[in-house]
Amino acid sequence: MPLTRSEATARAAIIDVHSYEVHLDVTAAGETFGSRAVVRFGARPGSSTFLEFEPVVVSSMTLNGSPVPSLSVSGGRLTLADLAEENELVVEATMRYSNDGEGLHRYTDPADGNVYLYQHLFINNGGRVLPCFDQPDLKASWQVSVSAPADWKVATNGELVSSSAGEWRFAATKPISTYLASLFAGPFHAVTDSHDGIPLALYVRAALAEHLDRQAEELFTITKQCLDRYHEMFEIRYPFGHYQQAFAPEFNFGAMEYPGLVVFRDEMIYRSAVTDSQRESRANVIAHEMAHMWFGDLVTMAWWDDLWLNESFAEYLGTRVAGEATRFTGTWTTFAMQRKAWGLRADQHPSTHPVAPVEVRDTEQALLNFDGISYAKGAATLKQLVAFVGDEAFLAGLNEHFTAHAYGNATLADLLGALAKASGRDLSGWAEVWLRRAQVNTLRLELSPARVEQTAPADYPTLRPHKIGIGLYDRGADGTVVRRSLLPVEVEAAAVTAVPALDAEPAADLVVLNDGDLTYAKIRLDDASTAAVSTVLPLISDSLARAVLWAATLDAVVDGERPVAELVTLVLTALPVESEVVIVEDVLRATRSLVDRYSTPETRPAALELVAQAADRLLAVSEPGGSRQLAAARGLIGATNQSGRLRGWLDGEGVPDGLAIDADLRWLILYRLVVLDAAGTAEIDEEFARDRSATGAQWAARCRAAVPTPDAKAAAWQAIVSDVSLSNRLVEMTASGFWHPEQLDLLAPYVPRYFAEMPAMMRVRGGMSAERTAGYAYPELAVGAETRRLAAELLSREDLDPILRRVVQDADDDMRRAVEARF
Ligand SMILES: [Zn+2]
Repeated sequence: MPLTRSEATARAAIIDVHSYEVHLDVTAAGETFGSRAVVRFGARPGSSTFLEFEPVVVSSMTLNGSPVPSLSVSGGRLTLADLAEENELVVEATMRYSNDGEGLHRYTDPADGNVYLYQHLFINNGGRVLPCFDQPDLKASWQVSVSAPADWKVATNGELVSSSAGEWRFAATKPISTYLASLFAGPFHAVTDSHDGIPLALYVRAALAEHLDRQAEELFTITKQCLDRYHEMFEIRYPFGHYQQAFAPEFNFGAMEYPGLVVFRDEMIYRSAVTDSQRESRANVIAHEMAHMWFGDLVTMAWWDDLWLNESFAEYLGTRVAGEATRFTGTWTTFAMQRKAWGLRADQHPSTHPVAPVEVRDTEQALLNFDGISYAKGAATLKQLVAFVGDEAFLAGLNEHFTAHAYGNATLADLLGALAKASGRDLSGWAEVWLRRAQVNTLRLELSPARVEQTAPADYPTLRPHKIGIGLYDRGADGTVVRRSLLPVEVEAAAVTAVPALDAEPAADLVVLNDGDLTYAKIRLDDASTAAVSTVLPLISDSLARAVLWAATLDAVVDGERPVAELVTLVLTALPVESEVVIVEDVLRATRSLVDRYSTPETRPAALELVAQAADRLLAVSEPGGSRQLAAARGLIGATNQSGRLRGWLDGEGVPDGLAIDADLRWLILYRLVVLDAAGTAEIDEEFARDRSATGAQWAARCRAAVPTPDAKAAAWQAIVSDVSLSNRLVEMTASGFWHPEQLDLLAPYVPRYFAEMPAMMRVRGGMSAERTAGYAYPELAVGAETRRLAAELLSREDLDPILRRVVQDADDDMRRAVEARF
């Protein structure tokens, strides 16, 4: 059951947790493991409290030496009464492994039969491993020991003290929150190094050993560069001893910031060719998780309403540090193009919330706030804050904040106090409009006289101050385009801000509003610039400026202000000359999604053909073996109808020079062939026999869900809604392979079935896995009034699961836009 904020506040008022001493026995094969916990805590004498606890069987349970009746465990909680000033709870129990990525997740590798475990207690799954006070402000030291098969290795937050004959003992940690307690175990492969006195290690499944060995140098280099940069910025050194990074199978997040042992999803150890933007994204995740060592782990939010203190800062600092310290200097281009679009989308949904909500009711609501607002909008807001107070004051404020609250918890008010002191400015007004109010402003440039017009949605009428740049671009005689000047402008929290400096300039061929991407807003250019984008954009050398222009263009199409057909035409002319891989990938992905949802069955084939042509043109001019070539090939494979050509690639015929048709690209091609009904179950089985790996199993599940026959769809649907033996990742891959615009007639029965059957699915799957599955399985391609009617009917149910409510509400809002904009 979710923990409410008021329960957490009441518990923290009477309880002070000192330590967890945990012994896990994972030696037996089967569905369960042994857990022995000693919890030492102070309490208000005579008071009662509870711990989160979800055992299969309790063998013994004592509080201060006296037996605790087994009836005390109920509904996922262990209730204790008549507490002493100092208490020792000792519990021995049998617990259940999970396959949904929460608790202690157990995974069997199809490649070699090896078993791996990882522990993920976030957000309130601590009770699935041991009895604990599972809330962020009850920090304690953790001392872990593990009995495991003798050929395994085990890693946790704490440093290894001893290991022999399958017994592993670890040193006690500094005080950490329960959601940060971590463990990775199995016969994994390790690579070690050290830097600046900090021991470093990388862990991965044995089946990926050769790939980790090849990528370890890049991973260690980025790790060291980021550590150095954080040590330049922060006065407190990395506080958790060693810095281990494990790559775990079927991990729900991209990664998680456990102190001393960061865990990443192991798709980040590449086994096939990837683009440089994927490598950049991995570097960004490394830097992001490292930022959490200070923001989140050293100083932790008191409750989940300050989740943004964790994620907005990690997203901002991760993007900044990866860009400043590693070879990936274009991280802010990626941010402008990709991450902000995620934030803008979430911020305009019915479920929008402030970056820093005044109150998050319970852990369930907190989980839903792990969205584009808490990450991307929050980070964009911090970028604006830096523009507002200056970098020196910003960093001084952060350092003050860390020093004041190290190993403890803090709130928004604490942080604002530190920043106000460092900058000498009162930030309460700024924080009120930027952090406490939801939704986004639109900034529109108008000329003669030059002015920025600011609007806000009717339900969220807040206007905000924006510090921005306005760039003026001229076409040169030699065909190039140069930025003549970049005007700093302070847009007032008003409907109109005059920009006399722009009037003083001679007319430009293109004026870029929010050039440099300093603020968070929807951007609309003046009419002349809008008309010039298609010819001028490809000639601008600054990738960040191009990203701002692409993002504004895509956003206008999403809003139905401009037709998809116009976007497709722009893609056809501008994409083949685009040099920034992340822009290529994102434009192709976003355009594809808009074509699928915003065009009709009549207009879609022609639009899709143009997208395929754009990718094909780019492919023809891309350097062999480069990232752009791979991005273009993937875009082409996803959009083309030329099944003969794709089949040829699988057989090694007509393959573009330098393009490796490796394991993952083979699957991508096969997936498209299946969608086009040009390959079926036999080919999928054959490919899986050839690639019997973890990724192969996931691709096979996705391909099987895509087979356009009634039987295949029925089997896939059954797996999605009710097969609980399927792991989080396999069910998500199945759901993500289910819907295709080419198969809408066949899939028509599943539109009403989604709304009828998802509530039951939510009851049988874990929180995050259920949310993802409900999202992937949504009939977003069945755009029309009937789907919207079914959504409204489901939303009118009072007993609807809140997670499903949010998924359906937001997806239906996306469909509302698509219905209005359809051509
Ligand atoms: Zn994070």
